[in-house]
Amino acid sequence: MGRPKKCRWVETEPGVTFFKPRGIPLRALEQTTITVDELEAMRLADYLELTQEEVAHKMQVSRPTVTRMLARAHRAVAEALVQGKAICIEGGDYRLGQQCSSCGQWAAVTEGEPCPECCCRALDEPDDEKKD
Ligand SMILES: [Zn+2]
Repeated sequence: MGRPKKCRWVETEPGVTFFKPRGIPLRALEQTTITVDELEAMRLADYLELTQEEVAHKMQVSRPTVTRMLARAHRAVAEALVQGKAICIEGGDYRLGQQCSSCGQWAAVTEGEPCPECCCRALDEPDDEKKD
């Protein structure tokens, strides 16, 4: 089988996951899908105007992966706009997380919190030195 896919870090779940053109009955509606990680790449590159290099660093993937994700997402959005299709945002290979405020590693933490490793380290090493 293929090599395991690298985890793509996403900072927040999209607030809206379905866009529908007005005036087309739902049963006649076709839809395109972009994944949550593709939307994150668009958010960072197209909305926040980061370079692909910066997006790659933020999501912890290679730059060619960012290029591919953006190409797919742009194609899907263009298809929806041109063909009058709905856009559904779902799925993808991603993990929700933030950079640890202490060590800078990515982890499934809320913003501004240390990662589990840093939390454990803080518990394991009380600052008074009492090691037998
Ligand atoms: Zn940490």
